[in-house]
This record gives sequence, structure tokens and C-alpha cells, in this order.
Amino acid sequence: MSSVPSVPPAGPEITHGECRQCGTLIAGLDGRYSCGVCGWVNHHSEGHRPLPRAEDDIDHAVGGSEANRLS
Ligand SMILES: [Zn+2]
Repeated sequence: MSSVPSVPPAGPEITHGECRQCGTLIAGLDGRYSCGVCGWVNHHSEGHRPLPRAEDDIDHAVGGSEANRLS
């Protein structure tokens, strides 16, 4: 893992923080954490960037009734 190319982060960035419940140092993505020790998670709004919405998903058909045909 020593020859990692310096590519600017296009996707989620790995961040580190401390679990506010048990104090364990945990890794997260874009400031969102999930503690594997005690199960604590922070709120998604604490993330560094907004979560992708369904409208942003290119695989998700929007604006038509065809997307809801299965319901
Ligand atoms: Zn914890």
C-alpha cells in the first residue's frame, strides 16, 4: 500500500473521529461514523457533504409514473 497514486478524492473521503458514546477511535466516510464497538452512529447531517438524493441517481428513473409501477 505504499504506491498510492495521488488522485484527488472524487468520492467519499475517509475521515477519523471518536465515538461519542464509548470513545473508540473510528473511521468514517465524509464525517459520518458508525462505531463497531457499541453501535453508535452520528446523524447523517453531520457529514461533510449532502447525501446523494434519489434524483441524483442516474439509474433511478424520475419524473414519471413508470418508476412506481411495481407498487
Ligand atoms: Zn462506540
